[in-house]
Amino acid sequence: MKTLKIAIQKSGRLNEKSVEILKNCGLSFENYKSSLISTVTNFPLEILFLRDDDIPEYVQDGIADLGIVGENVIVETKAEVDYLQKLGFGKCTLKIAVQATSNIQKLEELNGKAIATSYPVILEKFLREKGIKSDIRIISGSVEIGPGLGLSDAIFDIVSTGGTLKSNGLKPFADVMQSEAVLIGNKSIADNPEVAELLQRIRSVLSAKS
Ligand code: ATP
Ligand code: ZN
Repeated sequence: MKTLKIAIQKSGRLNEKSVEILKNCGLSFENYKSSLISTVTNFPLEILFLRDDDIPEYVQDGIADLGIVGENVIVETKAEVDYLQKLGFGKCTLKIAVQATSNIQKLEELNGKAIATSYPVILEKFLREKGIKSDIRIISGSVEIGPGLGLSDAIFDIVSTGGTLKSNGLKPFADVMQSEAVLIGNKSIADNPEVAELLQRIRSVLSAKS
C-alpha cells in the first residue's frame, strides 16, 4: 500500500484549522513546528508542511497527492488539480478598493487606471471578463499603501474586516472573488481507496459541525 502525502500550510492563517481537521478525522501525528514532514501513525499518510503558494503545484505534479489551500491560491497559480471538498474555514473576499475620497463609481472607470496587487492572475481574469483594460502593477505585499503614495489608483487584495483598507484611507469598490480553504487532489488519485476513506472521514467531521 502506497503512503499518501497531504500538503498543508506550515504556518499562517490555514495551519491551525488544517491540523485540527486532520486530527478530528482520527489521524495521529506529531505536529512539531520545526519539522517539514510528519508521519501519521494510524493511517498510510504523511503530512508535508509547506508555504501555501507551493501547495497547488506540488499536488498538480504529484509530489503530494492531496492538499489543503485557499481557492484564491489555486486560481492564482493556475494549477490543474481536482477540487475534492470545500472545508468551511479560511473564508475571505478578494476586492478592488479605491481611495476613500475617490468619486469613481462604475467599473468602466477603471479603464486606463493602475491597480496594485499580489494576485495578478485573478484580477486579470476578472477585468478581461468585464472588458476593462487597466494597468496591473504586481507588488508582493502591502499593496494598501500604493494609492496614498501615488503608485496606483486602486488596489486588489484580500479583505476580511476592511480595517486595513480603512486605516490606509481606502474603501471597498468591487467584490471579485469569494474564497475558502479546499481539499484538492492530484488528477490521478480519484480512485484511490485511502483517498476515498479520508474524504469520507473529512465529510463526516464537516457535517457533525454544521
Ligand atoms: P505562507 O507563508 O504560507 O505563504 P501567506 O502569508 O501567503 O502564508 P496567509 O496570510 O497565512 O498566507 O493566508 C493564507 C490564506 O488564508 C490566504 O491565501 C487566503 O485564502 C486565506 N485568508 C483568509 N482570510 C484572510 C485574510 N484576512 N488575509 C489574508 N488571507 C486570508
Ligand atoms: Zn503565501
